[in-house]
Amino acid sequence: MSDPCRPVYTGRFAPSPTGELHLGSLATALASYLQARYHHGRWLIRIDDIDPQRERPGSAASIVATLEQFGLFPDAPVIYQSQRAALYHSAITQLLDQDLAYPCACSRADLDRNGRYPGHCRAGMPPGAQQRSLRVRCEQAQISFMDALAGAQHIHLQQHTGDFVIRRADACFAYQLCCAVDDAAPTITEVVRGMDLLDSTAQQIHIRRLLQLHSPRYAHIPVIVDEHGKKLSKRDQADPLLHGDHITAMRQALTHLQHPPPAAITSIDGLLTWALSHWQPARLSSAWA
Ligand code: GLU
Ligand code: ZN
Repeated sequence: MSDPCRPVYTGRFAPSPTGELHLGSLATALASYLQARYHHGRWLIRIDDIDPQRERPGSAASIVATLEQFGLFPDAPVIYQSQRAALYHSAITQLLDQDLAYPCACSRADLDRNGRYPGHCRAGMPPGAQQRSLRVRCEQAQISFMDALAGAQHIHLQQHTGDFVIRRADACFAYQLCCAVDDAAPTITEVVRGMDLLDSTAQQIHIRRLLQLHSPRYAHIPVIVDEHGKKLSKRDQADPLLHGDHITAMRQALTHLQHPPPAAITSIDGLLTWALSHWQPARLSSAWA
């Protein structure tokens, strides 16, 4: 029986609409979907379209349509970050009101050699300086979390990024802020996403702590790399998905997720049904060995 006090398992897939769905993002979508179904939970799609400069027109619709061709239908209408500016705004107001965030006049050139912000404007911008961005205070924030696959993580934010940007110089809300807010409402209980985002997790947990919001659990899956060890890009010529070969793409994505399907299954429906009944999250851990 489900516990009425415990929120129902809710997972999500959150692509940025910067191009077509590719093999790497298909694997992430499948992992989050199969994990949600394994827990008898809900699965949502969120389009991270908060950065118009990086967006490719038509790609949000095309990503959703491609996911549907793989049988991956969300349990609620697709969420668009571009429609949630009021939420990001109120989170920022809350942080500023409590002096947990502050205006900063610095540019990239002011970061230290390791890309960390040294805190020049923490006690106020220099007189006459023009505000560029907003930063959140990290002070002594030590973030520890247990990643289901990567294991225990301990991050000292001041040594990692320093006070980081939550609203950019071009007035866009920063990804860390939007994602932190969006994974709290509607409540996401587990985020399954690529390992390339492991570093962002501490920043997102930090923002949610300051806003007194709950954080989900995390499972960062290994990303698909090419033969040179480089993360697959949206333009990778070797990607079967970009050539319309859905069956090969689905087989490769499941194999990457440590669930190689039997050769006899040759339809998308068949592959998805097989994956749903064979999904064992523990198998993913072996990909970390
Ligand atoms: N939209 C971002 C990306 O595709 C973030 C995804 C996430 O937080 O899962 O890289
Ligand atoms: Zn500054």
